[in-house]
Amino acid sequence: MSNHQSPINKNGYDAIVVGSGISGLTTALIFAKEGKKVALFERDGDIAPLIRPYKRKGFEFSPGLHISGWMDEGEVIATFLQYLNLTDGVEKQLHKSGLANVVVGPNEYHIPKGLDKVKRSLLTYFPDDVEAINNYIELINEVNEKSFYFNKKLKPSRNKQVKFTGSTSLSLQDVMKQFRASKGLIELLGTLSYFLIGSRGEEVPFDVHAFVLGGFYRSPGFFTAKGIDRLLANYKRELNRFGVDLFLNSEVAEIIIDDHRNVIGIKVSNGSQYNSSNIIVSFSPKLLLEKIKTEKLRPIYKERLEEAENTFGIYVAFYAVKDYRNIEIDNYIYYNDNLNLTLALTTNYSEDSLVLCGFLIESDAVPLPYDAKLKEEIAKEKLDLLEDNIFNQIPGLTGLENRALLLDYLKPWSFERYTKTINGSAYGIKQTVNFHGFQHRVPINGLYMVGQAIYPGFLGSMLSGFNLALEIFKPEDFWSRVTN
Ligand SMILES: Cc1cc2nc3c(=O)[nH]c(=O)nc-3n(C[C@H](O)[C@H](O)[C@H](O)COP(=O)(O)OP(=O)(O)OC[C@H]3O[C@@H](n4cnc5c(N)ncnc54)[C@H](O)[C@@H]3O)c2cc1C
Repeated sequence: MSNHQSPINKNGYDAIVVGSGISGLTTALIFAKEGKKVALFERDGDIAPLIRPYKRKGFEFSPGLHISGWMDEGEVIATFLQYLNLTDGVEKQLHKSGLANVVVGPNEYHIPKGLDKVKRSLLTYFPDDVEAINNYIELINEVNEKSFYFNKKLKPSRNKQVKFTGSTSLSLQDVMKQFRASKGLIELLGTLSYFLIGSRGEEVPFDVHAFVLGGFYRSPGFFTAKGIDRLLANYKRELNRFGVDLFLNSEVAEIIIDDHRNVIGIKVSNGSQYNSSNIIVSFSPKLLLEKIKTEKLRPIYKERLEEAENTFGIYVAFYAVKDYRNIEIDNYIYYNDNLNLTLALTTNYSEDSLVLCGFLIESDAVPLPYDAKLKEEIAKEKLDLLEDNIFNQIPGLTGLENRALLLDYLKPWSFERYTKTINGSAYGIKQTVNFHGFQHRVPINGLYMVGQAIYPGFLGSMLSGFNLALEIFKPEDFWSRVTN
């Protein structure tokens, strides 16, 4: 499919996009803006079930979008939203005090806003790590500066991976060991990586760590619930303006492939069939194993799909705290090695209250329970653990329990139900030095992936849509339309 060669597909659509999370919405809109006739299918009753805010006890909050990096004006998220014409009325806030306070065992660290400040802050906590910290910050900067996504002076390239000397295949931990960093510093950076990317310090490729953390260091922020509502309304408006056919309550049951390994269309669970020779799926890549007749997949690719690891699922409890103005609360990330416990807290606002969102990360290897009674028991145990740690261990939050009203409590299986992502995995496929995500092209003609197969998080989802467009359209022409 190319902007210049394909005529409108007479028997159907130029492209069918499956799943209307942030990656599917972004991809469908880009392709429609680039002149393609697009259909978008979503199994849920509305778009973006994972991040769509909802109300409980009068408070509104998003299940799956709480914080992002690269949130300043002029940075990559703003560039994408502007090209897509989505910015109007979208309320966002920057975390002026920085990303978070991070508690690792007995130590607490503050991660301020701005690379220089992060460097200075790390130097005060780890005075013996001067060289390692200088090298680390320099390398984060270098990786970001070498990517055209973050440095607008560079020409776009089609390669999904950012290449820079030597470190593409090295993990964060390997790089820090080469810099002779202390154990404490490596543990702190690994904790940040694990919570924000889903891969531990010894797993995460340094470049992935650098592109995600680079943004969280420079400009951490969040869209308010109203902001996300508006963003999604704007997506709908633009999809409509560019003639995208949106099919809600439409679960794609099968991707139809002919005998020559070409996609020819999809079958929806109500039996209807829609044709296109280009299908872009944004659901968990492992679902391909049930949506495609598996004899059509090359055995080696089938194995790759089976073996790919998912990132963790999360237990999430939402609380409202009234009269919050006297309380100074930052985001927290808390890691206890002895208990193998990672939890976090993010802050947002709804009406006149502070909305706290507590996360307890499930160990990534644990399959979900299927028995309802067992689920109930596990959920209760996890909530007790979450509350005990948030309100008793995190400095600054002690004693707040009595003032915090539990609004809702979501479990990994709630997320699996919302999105069909295996085990409710938060960031999709785990990015490791041995498995740098999937490529967009599935080895079946006309079948592509975006979203959680490619990159983690909100930014990663958007990025995956733009990245696919760079593969399909003439990259320099497309990129100049995005950046001008
Ligand atoms: C608890 C939690 C908190 C998070 N917090 C943050 C955060 O603060 N910041 C951040 O950057 N990221 C966060 N993330 C990750 C982020 O939400 C995701 O990476 C991102 O939203 C994924 O978007 P996506 O489009 O790739 O996938 P999804 O949003 O999962 O979209 C896939 C869509 O496909 C649909 N679908 C599935 N199967 C079918 C089918 N057969 N037919 C039709 N439709 C189908 C699903 O219903 C879904 O709408 C969080 C995730 C979780 C679970």
